[in-house]
Amino acid sequence: MRSQFLPYCLPMIGEEEIAEVVDSLRSGWVTTGPKTRRFEQQFAAYTGCRHAIAVNSCTAALHLSLAALGIGPGDEVIVPTLTFCATANVVRHLGADPVLIDVDEDGLLDINQAERNISPRTKAIIPVHFAGQSCPLDEVRRITAGNGIAVVEDAAHAVGATFQGEMIGATGRAIAFSFYATKNMTTGEGGMIATDDDQFADACRRLSLHGMSRDAWKRYSETGSWYYEVIEPGYKDNMTDIQASLGIHQLQRLPGFIERRRQLAARYNEAFADLPGITLPRELPGRRHVYHLYPIRVNAKTAGLSRGSFIEELRRRNLGSSVHFIPLHRHPAYRDARQHCRGGFRVADALYEEIMSLPLYPGMTDEDVQDVIAAVREIVSEHQPPRVYSCQPAMPSQLSNTL
Ligand SMILES: *Cc1c(COP(=O)(O)O)cnc(C)c1O
Repeated sequence: MRSQFLPYCLPMIGEEEIAEVVDSLRSGWVTTGPKTRRFEQQFAAYTGCRHAIAVNSCTAALHLSLAALGIGPGDEVIVPTLTFCATANVVRHLGADPVLIDVDEDGLLDINQAERNISPRTKAIIPVHFAGQSCPLDEVRRITAGNGIAVVEDAAHAVGATFQGEMIGATGRAIAFSFYATKNMTTGEGGMIATDDDQFADACRRLSLHGMSRDAWKRYSETGSWYYEVIEPGYKDNMTDIQASLGIHQLQRLPGFIERRRQLAARYNEAFADLPGITLPRELPGRRHVYHLYPIRVNAKTAGLSRGSFIEELRRRNLGSSVHFIPLHRHPAYRDARQHCRGGFRVADALYEEIMSLPLYPGMTDEDVQDVIAAVREIVSEHQPPRVYSCQPAMPSQLSNTL
């Protein structure tokens, strides 16, 4: 039994990040400046995107993307129901209507249902690369090609993930990343818009800082001028150099983080393969899964206990876990059926009964992993019904019952 609680996730902040933050604090340049630009360039080099625009959250990245696309009242935006609320909240912030769509067994957007729910009002679709695995991007592009529907990818879980050999963010008009504390790399709070569209990049950058024609960095530097124009009433979503200080070093360590996440996932896969009632996440063909999450399914009947009891059992053993996610259509803000797809949420509702995310992050020691493995195996075995062997002769009472 562990003496210390193991949280389901933890950020990995090293001495380099700390020194870089201190350097920013001492430099006198604490808001958007040279380090934010450097972080953007490094991020663009890593993902292969043409432009990277650093912002203060993925929520801001999604919101700015929709705003730059001109999404507004009367428009519909397709959103999977199994996601964090930010994916749909931003649609509502712009006065548009989210249309919630069911997911498949891997937690990814149900393409057929999405396609059936396209209406003349549909202006955008926000597929989510759930748990760190790409959605079927080829299918998303197929159903949106030629009908003016913009694709805004929610890549909050997916920095470093690939689809058919291509890095998420490398192509596409709007890809939104998160550097929130729990994500695969963090700046405390932070996000990034990746795009291959020059005009869209300009619009996002301008909207991220009040809609001004020149950013504050240029304005206040020695070479800058005092003059600027407000082109449109923009927002205040810029990233600070303090955040970028973290990002610069987190990005350098990201390949190692991903390697370790994949290693831990492989260890779980092997250790749990034979457990009755437990379904493991799988890596689909043509994708690199970066395992932001390791969501298992607990089938109450065959595992012998419910997902809720499973979380409690782990908790008793000092192990954390969580649920990703409570489907949006079950929240009060999204219960209104006008926001729901035609076709219902059969898979998302079934998933919701069973999913839970086990601890998985690069800072876990081999002993931590061993503790999780031992606990999960023990919980399942303790809850198995006594075995009945089919080769045993039937009991006399059973015989008399059938007669
Ligand atoms: C975390 C998360 C977001 C929001 O990210 P922030 O950077 O916290 O705004 C959006 N979508 C999904 C799927 C997330 O998990």
